[in-house]
Parts: sequence; C-alpha cells; structure tokens
Amino acid sequence: MTSTSTAGEPAVRSAGLDEAVDAMAAILTGRPIAILTGAGISTDSGIPDYRGEGSRVVNPMTISHFLGDPTARKRYWAGSHLGWRRFTEVRPNAGHRAVAALELAGVANGVVTQNVDGLHLRAGSRRVVDIHGSSDRVRCLRCGQIFARDGIAQRMADANPWLNAPESVELNPDGDVAIEAYGDMIVPECTVCGGDLKPEVVFFGEFVPTEKFAEASALVRGAEALVIAGSSLTVNSGIRLLDQAAKRRIPIVIVNRGTTKGDARATLKIDAGTSEVLGALAERLTS
Ligand SMILES: [Zn+2]
Repeated sequence: MTSTSTAGEPAVRSAGLDEAVDAMAAILTGRPIAILTGAGISTDSGIPDYRGEGSRVVNPMTISHFLGDPTARKRYWAGSHLGWRRFTEVRPNAGHRAVAALELAGVANGVVTQNVDGLHLRAGSRRVVDIHGSSDRVRCLRCGQIFARDGIAQRMADANPWLNAPESVELNPDGDVAIEAYGDMIVPECTVCGGDLKPEVVFFGEFVPTEKFAEASALVRGAEALVIAGSSLTVNSGIRLLDQAAKRRIPIVIVNRGTTKGDARATLKIDAGTSEVLGALAERLTS
C-alpha cells in the first residue's frame, strides 16, 4: 500500500515496519481502542522527550522545591513562560493527527495523555484526558482561581520586558526551559487574592488528581484494547493504566523508540516512531 505524507514529514518506512503495523492492525481490528500517549508522540513537533532514548538528563522542578523556595519559583516561571511561548509555535504532527482520525472514525474512544502541550486538542481529538494537566491553564495555590495562560503570559511579558528577547532557548516537554537571568523577574500574583500562581501541570512528586485519574481509568475501561504510544512508562499513572488493561486481559500494543517498563506485558511492541506507526495504523483502520 502507498503511504500518505504531509509536506515536510518523511514518507519513508524502515524495513519490517509495514509488517509490524499489519500485525498491530490485526490485533486491534474490531475492538474499541483506548490510546495513552507520552512525550514521544510530540518529539516530531520539536518538543524533546527528556526521558526518551538519547535525550539529555535534566532536573525537572519538584513540587516541594516550587512551594518551598521563592527563587526556584521565579526560575521556574521564567523558564515556563519562554517554554509556553514555544508551545504556542509548535504544530501537531502525523501522530497526533492519526490519534484524532482514529477517534473521529469511531475506532478509538479518546486519548489519555501525559503531555501538557495541548497538541492532541489542536490536532482535532475530542476526548482528551490530560492526566498531567495542561500548560495553558494557571491555578492560584491559595484560592483555586483558574486563569488562562495567555493572560498570565501577557502580564509576565509586560512586567518583564527583557523576557521578550530571549537568546536561544531549549524547550522541555513540561514547558520549562533552562535560563540564567531571572533574579529581577516579577511573577504575576492571583488578581483575586494575591496568592502564588502555578501552571496547572503535575510536577514531579505530585499526584495526578483523583478525579482526573478516574477519567483516564474510565476511558481505558471503555475500550477492548490499549495502545500506548511514545511513553517509556516511567511515571506511575501510565503503569497503573497498563495494569488495569493487563488485569482485564485485553490486548496491549506499545509503540515507542526504546524499551518501556510495560514491554514484558505487551501483546505487541513496536520499536519505532509514533508518527509513522500511528499514521499507517490509521490508514488501515479508518479506510
Ligand atoms: Zn487566589
């Protein structure tokens, strides 16, 4: 069969990939699919996966560090602001579009994502459970007021004009970046109560909110197969969803570059990029 490709994205498939996707399609045909995605699905959009194969090791902000250290909070906000601006510039890729196509065709019942980049919604997915939150929302830690990130970003830029001319900025999946000059930075406060603000993303050391995990769990329960794409399953919430699927003995297919913590329990593991595999899968299951 021929492969379709969008300009700028490779149509080349490595040897054996067609066979792997055929096997994947055979396992999934006729079954409602739940999809779980991680940082690996967004790397083709230009957001590096710091837990994936060949990536840099960075020290992500922990919740205790953020809450306990005002300087760390400033550093985080400076980086997060620049990271957010980059998030608004990147575009969904073939993997995100395939996930959306599978849902719109009634093959998949939605997507649970560990990503905070918002790219599934922008690709057209309708039911998206963002278990690690979304960087486009900001929450007051004192009164709980939610703010749109656009407005907070504007206040950040107005209060700190130097932020508008960053040199070269490296972006991490959680929207944080490493920058040096943040000491004089003014971080916006809650306009309701003056409390500290935090992007509504789950930090390291923080639990996924109970109701959010319940939503993810319901999505997986409503399916007869689980596809895990672009996650090495190093975080607990992903493993718990895999546990649920394994307990029900429904097929589990993992698509990821490099090993994952779920490989031993997968019905099928495809060691390849998510854009090419999910794109080819969507061609087979939606035609
Ligand atoms: Zn407040």
